Amino acid sequence: MIERRRTDILVLGAGGAGLLAALHAKDAAPALEVTIAVKGLLGKCGCTRMVQGGYNVAIAQGDSAERHFMDTLEGGKWLNDQDLAWTLVTGAQVRIRELENRWGCFFDRNPDGTIHQKAFAGQTFDRTVHKGDLTGIEIVNRLAEQVWARGINRMEEHRAVALIRSRDGARLAGVLLIDMRSGGLLFVQARAVLLGTGGGPTMYKYHTPSGDKACDGMAMALRAGLALRDMEMVQFHPTGVLAGPGTRMTGTIIEEGLRGAGGYLLGGDGQRFMHKYDPRGERATRDIVSRSMQREIRAGNVNEAGGLWIEMKHLGPERVRREFKGMVERCADMGFDLAAGRVPVVPTAHYMMGGVVFRPDGATDLPGLFAAGEDTGGVHGANRLGGNGVANSTVFGGIAGDSMAAWAPREGAFEEPDEAALAEAVALVEAPFGRAPRPLSPIRDALLELMWDKAGILRDGPGLADCARGLAALEAELDATGVDGRERAFNLTWHDWLNLKSLLLVSRAIVVAAAAREESRGAHWREDFPHTADAAAGLAATRVTLRDGAIALEWQPVAFTRLRPGESLLAAE
Ligand SMILES: Cc1cc2nc3c(=O)[nH]c(=O)nc-3n(C[C@H](O)[C@H](O)[C@H](O)COP(=O)(O)OP(=O)(O)OC[C@H]3O[C@@H](n4cnc5c(N)ncnc54)[C@H](O)[C@@H]3O)c2cc1C
Repeated sequence: MIERRRTDILVLGAGGAGLLAALHAKDAAPALEVTIAVKGLLGKCGCTRMVQGGYNVAIAQGDSAERHFMDTLEGGKWLNDQDLAWTLVTGAQVRIRELENRWGCFFDRNPDGTIHQKAFAGQTFDRTVHKGDLTGIEIVNRLAEQVWARGINRMEEHRAVALIRSRDGARLAGVLLIDMRSGGLLFVQARAVLLGTGGGPTMYKYHTPSGDKACDGMAMALRAGLALRDMEMVQFHPTGVLAGPGTRMTGTIIEEGLRGAGGYLLGGDGQRFMHKYDPRGERATRDIVSRSMQREIRAGNVNEAGGLWIEMKHLGPERVRREFKGMVERCADMGFDLAAGRVPVVPTAHYMMGGVVFRPDGATDLPGLFAAGEDTGGVHGANRLGGNGVANSTVFGGIAGDSMAAWAPREGAFEEPDEAALAEAVALVEAPFGRAPRPLSPIRDALLELMWDKAGILRDGPGLADCARGLAALEAELDATGVDGRERAFNLTWHDWLNLKSLLLVSRAIVVAAAAREESRGAHWREDFPHTADAAAGLAATRVTLRDGAIALEWQPVAFTRLRPGESLLAAE
């Protein structure tokens, strides 16, 4: 028995994308009923809350949207959708003021009252706005308060599991969800839906995103027939802490601003190594630093924990304590002295540049479905600049909220769902209850190791082929593994099964795209194809879809709508 409800606008996820979308939609169309459905607790889940370093925006004297745009394209190795990237850099200038003046966030300031901006790797200007070194808590707390203060419905601990099309298949009718508190299923019919579940490469052995993220949004999009682009582009952050086995702190990051401020990375031999790989040393982009670290690790230049070190003490322990208070305290909690000692680190899977194909107004190819934030692809191209992530989710979340508020009364309708598709989705979700329960942890552990070893920072054709075979075997194993369904309320084993289902599907998409791209670009490094193809000769993005259970790939030429590779907007400055 499925409960049925309806709301004008349904927002999936409560990170920067979801919260801004709900607030904008409600402000733009107060008469519409807006509902947020979120897997965790509102204000307490997702990665926006975990943002440490800050928010990129060109608001300082001497900086410009054009400069931010060029850095974003150079960082993205020209694979970006340029209209999306331009919307990001110009939209960030509006959104940062809005975050302070409309939603009540306070960011750190200079003595003259201007907003303080710090250095982040890979950028030609210090443009990262922050609140100490735990910026996301400020943003999410203030946005959540604003949501609570408005008449926005909240469905907390509700997990979206399927996007259901209308009877004629032409548009979205609504979403199937699980009320995690009771285990009951419900179908929410909506005129417009925002997909803002935040991606999250938690299929890798070391990863940073919050535990609620399992690529559910991308998996739902694939199953609903939508295309994902650039799925081979997985970003690894250089400084995940090696806190020891058996703690979820392992893999969590200490922020990029440490390297921006002049922090050293040291091998197991206690020596700096980054200048061997890049003249910018530790301030090179994340992809280069992560790869260099992985090479040192493979070469055996490791500490006793099997990783490398970050060291800050040469900057003065007092300064480090003052400027990186949150990081110093976090490291102390794990038993490390960041200010005056060394912290063991390893690269860690952080962010997926790929995701649902969408347009600058937030619309997707499925009428009624909008998308924003880490679920989407195209903004960052082959690599995301640190600080462009939270800008992305808040800029496009707000835009999508405005778009949905305009679209829902004009073109949106309460469509009846395709009942066969709904029944199929219910069957998939309940599938493990019909089988003999077995532990899931061996499947999870094997997935994490497989993706880390074969589809991680350094890839090659034979490894990716092995990975594809391994994923198929794990999927068969998962499909044969049951879950005890006698108690469905907070049945975390059931949710873990569903998490693995999403992660395995999206892992397949990563591997197919990574095997197809026979060059190295941005975050995607092929040991067997180490060259980077000349972008001036034309570039194409990978697009994957799910057809008859298999991942199909096609190439979509990148339209250089504003600039061709090698050209610059700055020449005219
Ligand atoms: C440790 C860490 C530090 C970071 N630091 C920075 C930084 O300094 N600067 C920067 O720009 N970026 C940073 N990022 C990246 C940044 O957090 C993201 O780019 C961005 O905030 C993502 O926003 P989002 O709204 O798309 O997703 P999220 O904020 O992750 O929100 C996703 C939401 O969807 C919900 N959800 C998931 N699945 C479902 C489902 N099936 N049904 C319903 N709800 C669901 C989650 O519970 C959550 O509420 C950092 C990320 C991490 C992990």
